[in-house]
Amino acid sequence: MIDTIITARLYSHHTGHIARGGIAIRHGKIVAIGAASDIMPLASHQTQVTHTDPAYLLLPGFVDSHQHLLSYVRERAERVGLWQVTSFDHLATTLATAAQQLSVGQWIIGAGHDQGRYHEQRHPHRRELDAMIPHHPVLIHRACNHIALANSQALALAGITAQTADPVGGRIGRDADGEPNGVLEESAVALVRAVVQKPPIDWQRGIAHAMPEYHKRGITAIGEAALGHINGIDDLHVMQQAQQNGNLALRVAYMGYGAVANAWLAGQELIVDDDWQQAPIIKFFSDGTLGGGSAWMSTAYRDEPGNRGYPLYSDEDLIAAFTRAHCQGYQIAVHVIGDAAVAQALRCFAAVLTAYPRYNHRHRLEHCESLRPGLAAQCAQLGIVVGVQPIFTWFEESDVARIPDMLMPYAHAWKTLHDAGAVLAFGSDNPVVPDFHPLKGIAAAVTRQTWRGDVINAPEALAWQTAIDAYTYGAAYSLQAEQRYGDLRRGLCADFVVIDDNPALPLAQHQVIETWIDGKLL
Ligand SMILES: [Zn+2]
Repeated sequence: MIDTIITARLYSHHTGHIARGGIAIRHGKIVAIGAASDIMPLASHQTQVTHTDPAYLLLPGFVDSHQHLLSYVRERAERVGLWQVTSFDHLATTLATAAQQLSVGQWIIGAGHDQGRYHEQRHPHRRELDAMIPHHPVLIHRACNHIALANSQALALAGITAQTADPVGGRIGRDADGEPNGVLEESAVALVRAVVQKPPIDWQRGIAHAMPEYHKRGITAIGEAALGHINGIDDLHVMQQAQQNGNLALRVAYMGYGAVANAWLAGQELIVDDDWQQAPIIKFFSDGTLGGGSAWMSTAYRDEPGNRGYPLYSDEDLIAAFTRAHCQGYQIAVHVIGDAAVAQALRCFAAVLTAYPRYNHRHRLEHCESLRPGLAAQCAQLGIVVGVQPIFTWFEESDVARIPDMLMPYAHAWKTLHDAGAVLAFGSDNPVVPDFHPLKGIAAAVTRQTWRGDVINAPEALAWQTAIDAYTYGAAYSLQAEQRYGDLRRGLCADFVVIDDNPALPLAQHQVIETWIDGKLL
């Protein structure tokens, strides 16, 4: 018996064009799809039949291939949002308002700081933060989550002084006399993070409350991009519990990181693979971010002569780490933003794949914000999938502007990658950006417009269809889930969205009308 039939204008990667048709659903799966005249006769008197508004368009559910659900939950629970802050004065009033809710000495944690949006175009110094908030320890995370700012009280609680050495894989920003200036890069953030005292987060409640934020944006599946990044192995237990309790109303494919990755590689804490949860990927970070000046470039930053960022691994160490995961059958995802980091990762993948060839490995590069000639072709040749966040083009204008002039034609070069034959997997990196709406990302991929209305590297604009495919099929492919979801085909999960794609409106104003998961309207 067919549970549900829906007729609509349909688009999917499978057919490659928009056409009117119908879908028949049974037990959460698509059991037939085709012309409405072929599908309607399958209805029985118990079948629920829905004729979608002919103006609307039905697509596969969006798959956000690079999300940080637990970071997002934490941010909603404990952090002061600084996304809209545009000056030091504005920062001071925002932090002071937050301080009023707290007693003296309690931590203030900020999120979404971006000096590129500030009138001053720089980070505030530790002493400037002290003047803004004299009675609380302050830790402010930059939007990219690779850099943070601490005031003097926070540094003192963490025991960071002029004598403290930089930790492995990070840097403590310093004045000329060696005193910390309050800027913490990469692993140095953890030195302060380790002493932050906050009331515990109710993770289960937080996850349940976050679900509507995904559903209203049409997201039906995510790649959790660094499980283990927040609380080590506990991240895994939190997600497993959320799944068992029914708080996790999304399909999730995990990228294990740190303690979680180590447990999996040791054969422990393995996840049962089904339509709701998969754990195919081990995650690495091999450089930092453009905004933080820590993404590893082959030439100096446009606005910071002498700085080219830096790698977090030597080639030898990266090859050893990749080999361990690859030889156990895992897919690898590696965070690379600067062109030198992209080149290094490709060099290391090539070495591993030469030594241990594997068909259909789907190893991934994450972000890939700056290329140089030849790298896109190398991605395609090695079969590397590229996880990119088109919404960065919309929000990260000031970061992109840091790419050196000679590499600007290779900034956010999504079309070059696609044309070279690399599979594109779209995602958002939420909560790194102020919003993670797939339709906004798709609009940015097609128009290359930023929130200010500027256009970044226009020749890299993608066709609408390519962008939709990258947010559905390509993203599912990147998570080894394309036989389960990400398309409209017989046998796949009945996950889809209905959008208003009114051609009279700009793409960025298109809206999600309905989201269906497992054959059910949410
Ligand atoms: Zn990420």
